[in-house]
Amino acid sequence: MDPDLEQLKQHLPMLEYLRRHNWTPRRHSARQEFVGLCPLHVETRPSFYVNAAKNLFYCHGCGNGGDLIRFVELFLHVSFRQSVAHLQQELAAKARSAPTAELLAQTAAYYQLQLHCAPEAVRYLERRGLRDSAIAEELGIGYAPGGTLRRHLAAQGYPLDLLLHNGRVVNLYGRSIGTAFPHRLLSRSKGGLFAWESVSQCSAVILVEGLFDLAVLWQSGFRNTTSALGTHLNSAQLDQLCDRRGRLIYIVFDQDENQAGQRASQQLRLRLERTAATAFTVRLPVGHDPNSYFVSGATAADFAACLEGAQPL
Ligand SMILES: [Zn+2]
Repeated sequence: MDPDLEQLKQHLPMLEYLRRHNWTPRRHSARQEFVGLCPLHVETRPSFYVNAAKNLFYCHGCGNGGDLIRFVELFLHVSFRQSVAHLQQELAAKARSAPTAELLAQTAAYYQLQLHCAPEAVRYLERRGLRDSAIAEELGIGYAPGGTLRRHLAAQGYPLDLLLHNGRVVNLYGRSIGTAFPHRLLSRSKGGLFAWESVSQCSAVILVEGLFDLAVLWQSGFRNTTSALGTHLNSAQLDQLCDRRGRLIYIVFDQDENQAGQRASQQLRLRLERTAATAFTVRLPVGHDPNSYFVSGATAADFAACLEGAQPL
């Protein structure tokens, strides 16, 4: 069969389509089989079976069976071509109503898959000290080879206008690993602190600038690390950081030669002074950020010593 039609059926599972059109089945067996009243004729005892794994139906009452295209032909009394056109419209409608989160999840999953096909990206992660694949997966790290996402999402049935009119915060952060573009940030708005839901319960929190800083710290066991994706915290991030009385906040910004990181620490200190939190600035060896510190061979114990030596602001 036409690969486009195979794809159409794959993205519009039979069971999902029938349920949307008010078919109420019960599970017939553990093998992904469902049974209910046949939508194609009047009956009182269920004889219409759908195999969700095979994406096929069969009715023991009227003897009809086949795929979703065949079902629509019979159900709507239309030709094969009209059935396909109807299903294409259904797919487009489904994609238009897809929540943004679903689109983002699709995009992230696609990029994560691409990472495994891109040795240069894996090498880049290794150079940045990220070796634990479980952490990479947890952080949703992927690889965007460029110019392929649109085609992929279109094949999934998502129209391009949905991508363009994506009104919500897009929390995809990217950087180029080549030399053409040294650094690229794709986020529209920073939103809250990174992975805050997993850190918010901690009485002590480590705040770093970048995601590679965070990645190596998580990898080394400092799971109470979060990031504001930069040194400037928006008010939502500041509120999160101070939402618990008595929380200890360790600020570990880059130790820049031009003092930019140190200045940012001071500015944050002034803002934190007005809250109930206790903040510390953590000094790393000159020229280092947490990522480069670990890449240069520092251990978890070395970093813990830096935390212990931190000065209260
Ligand atoms: Zn039937």
